[in-house]
Amino acid sequence: MRIYQLARKLNLSNQELLKVLSQLKIKGKTSVSGLSAQEIKRVEGKLVKKKPSPKEKGLIARTPVVTLLGHVDHGKTSLLDAVRKTNVAGGEVGGITQKIGASEVECKGKKIVFIDTPGHEAFTNMRAHGAQVTDIAVLVVAGDDGVMPQTIEAINHARAAKVPIMVAINKIDKAETKLKRVREQLSKYDLVPEKWGGETIFVEVSALKGQGLDEFLEMILLEAEMLELKAEPEGDFQGVVIEGELDRQRGPCITLLVQKGTLEIGDILVGGSTYGRVRTLINWKGETIKKAGPSMPVRVLGLSDVSMPGDTFRKAKNEKEARQIAESIKEKEREKGLIKRDVFTLESLSQPEEEQKTMNIIVKVDTQGSLRAISDTIKNLESEEVKIDILHAAVGEVQKSDILLASASQAIIINFNTVASSANRDLAKEEGVNIRNYQVIYAMIDDIKKMREGLIEPRYEEKEVGEAQVREIFSIPKAGKIAGSYVSQGKMTRGSKVKVFRGEEVIGEGVIGSLKRFNRNASEVLTGLECGINIDGFSNIEKGDLIKAYESRRVE
Ligand code: GDP
Repeated sequence: MRIYQLARKLNLSNQELLKVLSQLKIKGKTSVSGLSAQEIKRVEGKLVKKKPSPKEKGLIARTPVVTLLGHVDHGKTSLLDAVRKTNVAGGEVGGITQKIGASEVECKGKKIVFIDTPGHEAFTNMRAHGAQVTDIAVLVVAGDDGVMPQTIEAINHARAAKVPIMVAINKIDKAETKLKRVREQLSKYDLVPEKWGGETIFVEVSALKGQGLDEFLEMILLEAEMLELKAEPEGDFQGVVIEGELDRQRGPCITLLVQKGTLEIGDILVGGSTYGRVRTLINWKGETIKKAGPSMPVRVLGLSDVSMPGDTFRKAKNEKEARQIAESIKEKEREKGLIKRDVFTLESLSQPEEEQKTMNIIVKVDTQGSLRAISDTIKNLESEEVKIDILHAAVGEVQKSDILLASASQAIIINFNTVASSANRDLAKEEGVNIRNYQVIYAMIDDIKKMREGLIEPRYEEKEVGEAQVREIFSIPKAGKIAGSYVSQGKMTRGSKVKVFRGEEVIGEGVIGSLKRFNRNASEVLTGLECGINIDGFSNIEKGDLIKAYESRRVE
């Protein structure tokens, strides 16, 4: 069973389950890793007290939201169209004149919502702008072409978002289609079909001929069932923008995907700097409706402005409150010079609540030959305290999708010997993404080490640096007791921490406040010399005591 599946079953977040695994010393797992039956038993044993089940909190099952990802021309749009034509929720669609950004289909009485814009760029763009709506990513792979660069990109984007992946091998009507080859290729990316002992659902379809569509939908429902998706229709409302446009006649139109609660006509909404009273609600078939519950895509009219995909909307008590919230957000945006976020700092990369910190990295290199070597070098820089996750590694210059992925996942882009276009450099700046350019591997290693160290709390260790025997005590008014001492080992330094030993026992601690050689101040006195030592914080020193000096040294 996959980690995310077990997490859902146990009603934990993936992060919570990963924490339990690290407590059980089950290492090297991510949300998509599989767990053996024995490991699952250990986890369940550890979790004596489960969290309350969703039912107890008044949640109901909700419709899964699906996005199709994959290489260009592998048939994402065709598959979506085919499914929409044959399995429209509530019967005939009767010529949809206006797409709203998502559609609902029905299979065996259950609904599935498909996001209309396929591809990982739109998917990650939404994440980069604050939200994620997709529950299941369907990776569409053309059976004749097999795994292509954007297939790999799509896998990595879905994984970075921790969204489960299902595979649809398309174009099975084509003579060139080689199913086994595609399965083998995908297995290399840890997408192993169930019949080969893996845990990924594979379906075979032809969007063109309409083959395999029922099974395709059934499998989505099966995956959704395992995810146990829930929502609270009566709770606070939350909806995420999946599309927005300015209609000449109707004014700003946005499509919200309802995540929590229920939206009704007359509600006051606010999201970012946009607000307004809901005038009209339209479903994906173009019908006006009165309310929309969880997982439903709905077009909303009546807002003050068009919003960006990924913006989150909530309800406000009244228009005045909505306007105030929107105005204050607008003001903040102005102050920031419209830059969404500060450029990532090392601090922002660290997650203080976790024991092991994670550095997310995207690697772009100039040649296929160096891709592996550089990725391996980076991975080898992982330490016990800092885990390095390479979210995506590919040949070629930094693309928009890389920047969006970095933005959405708080990752750094390591760019080796390629040049990003100025438009993409600007986008990186806007998104607050750090692109680091290198020509030589040593510079890259040094830099990553520095970044890694920046994530670690420095650890110090006390090291003994000298010993002095106390031979005489002088009491001097104002200055207190001065220990006339002989440095028998190492050195005594002003400001050093010291411990005073009487025999085996430590009788006091302090700091060397003053250090003198023949009445002259000294900063350091070395072995074989005599000196006068006054210890701040300890005055009970006697002839025959031993002063040991220590230095705190940073442990590498
Ligand atoms: P997208 O870029 O992934 O959205 O791909 P499209 O849906 O635009 O499809 C790309 C091309 O593949 C189009 O010419 C489709 O007609 C063709 N195509 C899509 N699905 C199939 C299929 O199942 N069989 C065949 N033979 N062609 C298909």
